[in-house]
Amino acid sequence: MITRTGQCLCGQVTLAIEGEPMRIGICHCTDCRKESGSAFTYYGVWHPARANVTGKSVEYRGQCFCPQCGARLFSKNDTEVEIKLGVLSPAPTGLVPSYELWVKRREPWLRPVDGAEQFDEDRPAPGAGG
Ligand SMILES: [Zn+2]
Ligand SMILES: [Zn+2]
Repeated sequence: MITRTGQCLCGQVTLAIEGEPMRIGICHCTDCRKESGSAFTYYGVWHPARANVTGKSVEYRGQCFCPQCGARLFSKNDTEVEIKLGVLSPAPTGLVPSYELWVKRREPWLRPVDGAEQFDEDRPAPGAGG
């Protein structure tokens, strides 16, 4: 089984994630823009048992980040952990988004990802996160 690893900018927090993600997405919503300080977030979703995190992270509204360097890391509930894929090394990760959320907030200079399902807002499926 493949294990991917990552770390925050300062290296204080490290992640090791086993296996392939259940899904990979991009979200252009207002919260994701503000949280990331960028135009969108890019994340993969795994079962929490597949993700091993070391180091100290702090949480704001369910989003965990490194208190030292501020790098965004993951959010988590009982059934899913959503990892910000930009923390993985090496880059590029080769992980391709299968869907995009809140495309009505997408910057006009960004094109849709080839083959990715497009949603104007959140995924309609129950329990879906952004
Ligand atoms: Zn850090
Ligand atoms: Zn979002």
